[in-house]
Amino acid sequence: MKAMQLSKTAPIADAPLDLTTLPTPEPGPGQVRLKIHTCGICHTDLHIVEGDLSLPHLPIVPGHQIVGTVDALGEGVTRHQVGDRLGVPWLNETCGTCRYCRAGKENLCENIRFTGLHANGGFAEYTVVNQDFAYPIPDTFSDTEAAPLLCAGIVGYRSLRLSAVQPGERLGLYGFGASAHLIIQIARHWNCEVFVFTRSEDHRALARSLGAVWTGGAQDDPGALMDSSIIFAPAGHLVPEALRVLDRGGTLALGGIHMSPIPEMPYNLLWHERTIQSVANSTRQDAIDFLDVAAEIPIKTEVELFSLDQANEALLKLKRSEVNGAGVLTIHHS
Ligand SMILES: [Zn+2]
Ligand SMILES: [Zn+2]
Repeated sequence: MKAMQLSKTAPIADAPLDLTTLPTPEPGPGQVRLKIHTCGICHTDLHIVEGDLSLPHLPIVPGHQIVGTVDALGEGVTRHQVGDRLGVPWLNETCGTCRYCRAGKENLCENIRFTGLHANGGFAEYTVVNQDFAYPIPDTFSDTEAAPLLCAGIVGYRSLRLSAVQPGERLGLYGFGASAHLIIQIARHWNCEVFVFTRSEDHRALARSLGAVWTGGAQDDPGALMDSSIIFAPAGHLVPEALRVLDRGGTLALGGIHMSPIPEMPYNLLWHERTIQSVANSTRQDAIDFLDVAAEIPIKTEVELFSLDQANEALLKLKRSEVNGAGVLTIHHS
C-alpha cells in the first residue's frame, strides 16, 4: 500500500514525510482492517513530524482522524462487520487495568497508545485497529466531513466540557482552526455568546459566519468578561491574555497537546478562583458522546482537501494558519 511515512523529524518546510510503499497490514486478533477514504490533518501531526513530541519509534505513518470501511476482520471480531464505515481517532488503545483506566480516566492511562504515534495511522491506504477503539460514523456526514470530527471534534468537545461553560454563558475561543470551528457550533447550540480571538482575518470571517458575537485579537478588549475560555493555539503567551478577560471563578481550558512556555505573570490574574485546566487526549465515551451531538445538531465541517502525496504541503499550510476550517487528505486507491 501507499503511505506517507516519517523516518526522520525535520521542519515541515523540508517535507519530512516520504511517499513509500509498505506491506498492507493484516488484522491481528480483535482487530479490523480499514480501507481508508479520508484522514484529517491536525496540529499534533505537525508536532510529531517536527519532533516537538518524543516519539516512541521511527519510522511511523502519522494521521489520527481516519475514516474508512472495514475490509478484513481479525480473529474474534464481533463488534463490526465487513463494509461498516468507521472512524479512528487519536486514542488507539488503553490497558484497561491501570489505576486510571479502573477509575474511568482512560485518557490518562499509563500504557496509553496513540494512532499515528505508537501505531501506524491514516496517511496511508489501509490501517488496522482494535475493534473497541473504532466508532461508527453517523450517515449525516460524508467521508470528508467526518474526518475532522475525529480529533478536532472529539478533543475539542472534551475541552468544551472541561471549560465548564454552561448554556447561555460567555465563551472565549483563542485560535480558530479545526477544533474551534466545530466547537463554536455546539456552544451556539447551547445559546452561548462566543467571542473569538484570532489574528487571521479569514478565521474571523468564518467565526462570524458561524455565530461569533465578537472577533478580534488577544490584546483587544472584547467589552465583556468571559465565563469560560479555551485556548486552541499552541501559544503560551495567550494564557495571561486570556486570564485578563476571564471573569472571577471562570475556567481557562488549554486544548493542545503542546504549548510554548507560559510567561511569568502576576498572581492577581489567576486569583478569585480562576482555574487553568489542561486537556489530555480523550476517552472512548467522549468519542461516542461527541459523534452523537455532532449528528444531532448537525455540525457542518469546513474542509480543505489535499491528496495523500500532498501531506507535507497540507501540514505546512496548517502551520502557517492558511487552512480555513480543517485540512483533510483524500485517499485514492490504486
Ligand atoms: Zn490503563
Ligand atoms: Zn489531533
